[in-house]
Amino acid sequence: MTKTVTVIPGDGIGPEVTREALETVDALGLDLRFDLLDHVNADTYLRTGVSLSDEDFGRVKASDAVLFGAIGDPRVKTSDYGRGVLLRLRFELDLFVNHRPATLLHEDLSPLRDARAGAIDCVIVRENTEGLYADIGGVLRENTEHETAVDADVSTYMGVSRVMEYAYSIARRGVCMVDKSNAVRHGGKIWQRVFKKAASRNPIIRSTHLYVDTAAMKLISDPSQFDVIVTNNSYGDILSDLAAVLAGGLGNAGSANINPVTGFGLYEPVHGSAPDIAGRGIGNPFGAILSYALMLENFGWTAEASALRRAVGTAISERRVTADLGGSLGTKEVGEAVRSALSAR
Ligand code: ATP
Ligand code: MG
Repeated sequence: MTKTVTVIPGDGIGPEVTREALETVDALGLDLRFDLLDHVNADTYLRTGVSLSDEDFGRVKASDAVLFGAIGDPRVKTSDYGRGVLLRLRFELDLFVNHRPATLLHEDLSPLRDARAGAIDCVIVRENTEGLYADIGGVLRENTEHETAVDADVSTYMGVSRVMEYAYSIARRGVCMVDKSNAVRHGGKIWQRVFKKAASRNPIIRSTHLYVDTAAMKLISDPSQFDVIVTNNSYGDILSDLAAVLAGGLGNAGSANINPVTGFGLYEPVHGSAPDIAGRGIGNPFGAILSYALMLENFGWTAEASALRRAVGTAISERRVTADLGGSLGTKEVGEAVRSALSAR
């Protein structure tokens, strides 16, 4: 059955990398229909004050997935714009899993000495709707010497359970639960209890636990031990950037925001709008392409998803890459390199 996909290219290098990634996915000849929302961007927001209209939100809801470029513009000073688009989609569609793979596709790309391709092959599963991002808290005695700010770190039994279940559902070798339950005790108790239950229900999968400081250290000193890391919103944010750099940098990292219950997903590169290089046609399209591969996988097109990943790997080994990876090609030429690797398969 035809899958309908809304596309929000957004701002900065968003439209540049999205165009290449879409053309590359198109080359696979799958039964996909794209609904382009190219007016959801900073220009529209500056003109109208609207981030994402109800009509556009309706088009997204009627589709099977969203492909997202990036949102952000130096002319927009308020965070309302970005929140209005991405957080609206994330919260209203209840995309409670942030799935971020970190796979080293080529040994030249890792900042680690001696890291061979495949030595880093893990997924960070980040809880996407709770934790410090729940926006609960406030300020006492504002603008006095005794000003005190509180941001609540929210963990609910339901919220932790559903992300834990997802982590186990995708694990191949092991699940490592990361928290700071020795210091952050109340939420820690929930994470520990839910983890132990899930571990005993999944005896074949190796279940381990690390405090977040140790996890950061182990990601650098021995990344090959990790398969799935499951953690809360803020630790997931930090560890997934760390893992992305180990696997070749921000420009290469893809991600999926998904609700595994409804199957709906929003797929986006981990990088932002990169205003410093926008408009020059030199943004690395791999993050977008690898995000869209995650969509294909979730639609059940697993062979095509692997073919896309392999084609990116081929372009890297042929050094047909953008400047951030030490190459000299533009976004378009890199897209063409991936497509020629695809057609040679
Ligand atoms: P935003 O506010 O939209 O997140 P930002 O200023 O944080 O924008 P990022 O997009 O997060 O910028 O990028 C951080 C740095 O990494 C920038 O110097 C940018 O040029 C570089 N970068 C990010 N993505 C890419 C990419 N796909 N290709 C090349 N360089 C990139
Ligand atoms: Mg950024």
